[in-house]
Amino acid sequence: TIISTYYSEYFIDLSGGVHIQEKSTSRGFWLTITIGFSMFFGRFFLQKYIRLTDQLKEESLQDPLTKLYNRRGLNLNFEQKLITISPYSPLSLILIDIDYFKKINDKYGHDIGDICLIEVADILKNTLRKNDIIARFGGEEFIIVLPRTSKKEAVTIAENIRYTIDQGRFSSFELPLTITLGMTVTVEKNDTILKIIKRADKALYKGKDKGRNRVELSED
Ligand code: GH3
Ligand code: MG
Ligand code: MG
Repeated sequence: TIISTYYSEYFIDLSGGVHIQEKSTSRGFWLTITIGFSMFFGRFFLQKYIRLTDQLKEESLQDPLTKLYNRRGLNLNFEQKLITISPYSPLSLILIDIDYFKKINDKYGHDIGDICLIEVADILKNTLRKNDIIARFGGEEFIIVLPRTSKKEAVTIAENIRYTIDQGRFSSFELPLTITLGMTVTVEKNDTILKIIKRADKALYKGKDKGRNRVELSED
């Protein structure tokens, strides 16, 4: 805009000469053009910047292999759910661990293992409802948060997931897989993410001890 204001006379002169009385009109003309361009490009780059930062934010919360939330994504969404949820509304949490997954990697290689993880994640995604949160919790572990879900409903959901995986065949090798699920239901007012996950983890390991491919409920 500054350049246009100062040099508008020069620009017009270049295109064929201008009379003194026309100078203010030419300044106005160049000013309008420059402001128009500035607004257009300003808006263009601002939109690009917003899109890129949104994409970066999303990627920082996502597991690149399965496209589920990673732990950061889980924590962020879980905190929000815990804040908005009524203290008397039940919230169920399921921790899932694939059984004997190391054997798959050892026998068929890491790439086939990765494909199995993606396929298991896809089944989990398809099983869940709109408000549920699902994340990859670790290597072959997943976590599902079911807001406003009673123990009875959560057991049905967990049992359904266990059955679907048990019936599925994974990767081009059509491999059978099973999972063990540790479950907990929270109604406590001051429950924290860590406390809830710890309870589910204890249940999960009990499920492993009892022979795997099963749903185990936490005691407390
Ligand atoms: P179980 O849970 O039934 O006790 O046995 P497991 O063999 O599943 O348990 P363990 O914790 O010993 O092994 C987990 C394996 O998961 C080890 C590692 O090779 C594999 N794993 C972890 N992350 C990934 C990954 O991103 N890709 C692949 N392909 N494998 C992974
Ligand atoms: Mg594990
Ligand atoms: Mg395992």
